Amino acid sequence: NYKNQAQEYKNNYVLQYRYPDYTTEDLDWIYSLGYTRKLHPHSPLKMAKFSVVTHRGCIGGCNFCSIALHQGDEIISRSEANILKETKGLTKHPDFKGYIDDFGGPSANMYGMDCEKRCGESCWRCTDLDRSHRRLISLLRKARAIPGVKKIFVRSGIRYDLALDSEEYIKELSEHHISGTLKIAPEHFSGEVLRLMNKDNSRFDKFVDLFNSLNKGKKQTLRYYIMIGHPGDDEGQVKLLGEKLARLRNIEHFQLFTPTPMTVSSCMYWTGLN
Ligand code: SF4
Repeated sequence: NYKNQAQEYKNNYVLQYRYPDYTTEDLDWIYSLGYTRKLHPHSPLKMAKFSVVTHRGCIGGCNFCSIALHQGDEIISRSEANILKETKGLTKHPDFKGYIDDFGGPSANMYGMDCEKRCGESCWRCTDLDRSHRRLISLLRKARAIPGVKKIFVRSGIRYDLALDSEEYIKELSEHHISGTLKIAPEHFSGEVLRLMNKDNSRFDKFVDLFNSLNKGKKQTLRYYIMIGHPGDDEGQVKLLGEKLARLRNIEHFQLFTPTPMTVSSCMYWTGLN
């Protein structure tokens, strides 16, 4: 993402230019354009007609995911003022009934985790990363106080392992922003497959316990995304997964690993190497 690259291929070169930098101001400008939110009557986007994008990029670093390759591997957030302006604008739309379908980005709880240094190293592992969720909590509180807004749903996935660093955020989400189920993506439960995915589920049970205790009596549950067929996943690993899943309810769906262009997992899939 950070360097121009040239790869020789049969007397020619394939060029890949470095990812262009963009800023909060750029996003504020783009999201302030006069979108009509008019959709074809059968558009599959209907359920996202009144959704608000809060940021772009993901610092999660899942090896199978291409989000970082097309949105960047650091967070660029819109300004709070700009998001609130858009939210106020929604309340004037003739079709708006008070419900915001989604409020988030690739991983909804990374809003405000922008880095000023932009050193090119992984934000996820950086000790300076502000995991308090304070900017996001402040934004959500102000947005739902806007007259005409009845409910803001957070339907984009969240990184539960990051959310665990702010119990206040999980409470906020549970109290105000869930539509029956919160979707999280543990993806697998075999340590070996998780290592190859660059994921860590060591705090999964802790999150489930906390969520359940905060949502007692609320009829709000968790749903899980699981991925099978990732490099490293074999019969033994699937057995491990099956044992864990037998103890969980609400599997949202199984996704069969699909090698997306340029991801680390696709490279493993193609080369057979880690
Ligand atoms: S957390 Fe989600 S968006 Fe981010 S890298 Fe992982 S799968 Fe992709």
